[in-house]
Amino acid sequence: HDEEAAAKAAAINADNGAPTIFDKIIAKEIPSTIVYEDDKVLAFKDISPQAPVHVLVIPKFRDGLTQLGKAEQRHGVILGQLLYAARIVAEKEGILDGFRVVINNGPSACQSVYHLHLHVLGGRQMKWPPG
Ligand code: IMP
Repeated sequence: HDEEAAAKAAAINADNGAPTIFDKIIAKEIPSTIVYEDDKVLAFKDISPQAPVHVLVIPKFRDGLTQLGKAEQRHGVILGQLLYAARIVAEKEGILDGFRVVINNGPSACQSVYHLHLHVLGGRQMKWPPG
């Protein structure tokens, strides 16, 4: 059943607050290609790039931010730091003249990892609207 399969996939991809693979990337227990790092933010190459440049920018401390929809006022500072880090990544990757920042929030937006992350995409002509 397509519907059953979709329900299963949605359940697997639900925001249950469990640790994610990004914790292991932060802890350097699994390798990643780091593009930028400071005490609050880590940026690394996406394992399945959707553009010549595809970098993920994540907070090192998830602090309840499994998804943007869970953000509270106290997260304002880290949210700003993540967005600024996206700009640093764009400059480092040579795409400052044209890049896209994406946050997939929840199942209907195809979020698959429940640790807030910004996608920084570029290096090709983007289309609008996105799929
Ligand atoms: P989402 O679909 O917006 O949640 O994005 C999750 C992203 O994480 C996807 O683009 C995946 O390709 C990426 N990803 C998953 N596991 C890894 C990994 O181990 N290293 C780097 N990127 C990963």
